[in-house]
Amino acid sequence: MKALVLQDDRSLRLTHRRRPEVTAPDDVVVRVAQTGFCGTDRGVLLGRFPAAPGVVMGHEAVGEVVEVGAGVTTLRPGDRVAANPTLYCGLCSWCRRGALNFCLHKAGNEIGIDRDGAFAEYLRLEERFLHPLPSGMSYDRAVLVEPLACVMNNLEAARLRTADEVVVLGGGPIGVLVALLADHAGARARLAEPDPYRRAAAQSYFAGIPGCAVTVTEPDRIAARSASLVVDTVGALLDRACDIADNLGRVVVMGFHDKATAILRPLDVLQRGLTVIGAGDYNSLIFVRAVELARHLPLEGIVTHHVRLDDFTDALDTLGIAPGAPRPYTGMKVVITTGGGR
Ligand SMILES: [Zn+2]
Ligand SMILES: [Zn+2]
Repeated sequence: MKALVLQDDRSLRLTHRRRPEVTAPDDVVVRVAQTGFCGTDRGVLLGRFPAAPGVVMGHEAVGEVVEVGAGVTTLRPGDRVAANPTLYCGLCSWCRRGALNFCLHKAGNEIGIDRDGAFAEYLRLEERFLHPLPSGMSYDRAVLVEPLACVMNNLEAARLRTADEVVVLGGGPIGVLVALLADHAGARARLAEPDPYRRAAAQSYFAGIPGCAVTVTEPDRIAARSASLVVDTVGALLDRACDIADNLGRVVVMGFHDKATAILRPLDVLQRGLTVIGAGDYNSLIFVRAVELARHLPLEGIVTHHVRLDDFTDALDTLGIAPGAPRPYTGMKVVITTGGGR
């Protein structure tokens, strides 16, 4: 099968790999229809997040079951599924306490990071990490369930309230989802993004949703002390986020950025009553609820580009991933397709 494999120099290469097969009783092989290109994938290719060379990248996958192991009872060939890439063992001390997102056996089990992922025609995964899609849900919507689970995890950790004044830093797909969910929950949401393409794309997306009141703006136009909840989806803006937060404000660090550091005045945190929140990866139990919530949200509008595996360099261009310095965006959510339908 065709697969996009991470190289030593952090580039991607289209490679032929052996098609995965059922080897354990609970194995399921999925013919991948689409896999979202994530900000984390972009971070890997730009050297901002570590991943293992030789791995098939991609973790936001949807597709159709083609083969199941002898012990599989809940899925059959032909079922349409979304993959939950946040694997856990279920047996370590953290898993036994229900904190599946802090599983001690993540190493070697991070799909698309250090275990083969879904920028490929087929993906093998254990039955319990594959979730059947509600009938009629398009792949274009379902491919955003995984990012939605991330966003739900962070907004739940932040205890989002209807009365919140929310500022979201970063207008990529994750930022758009945070603002959408905050608005959906009745809070006032402003999205700040420096890239003109992404600002315009976010604006037209929200404008197309009846009753949606999210506003999109340049970061400079966000005043200090103007929000009760600030979500940094870039992962490098903690100091700015604390500045935007009002007294008693909460600040959520959400974007994955290996190289970012921030300088905070401890006395500020103390005197202004700030809360800085890190939610970790999402707990896998959230994934089921994300599939359910996706039925009520027009997520497919966030997908702007479908790029075939063979044309993956188009995806890199669209996301401004260039050797040397990153370039401006010309897309919102880009999905890699294998010809498996929408
Ligand atoms: Zn992702
Ligand atoms: Zn565990």
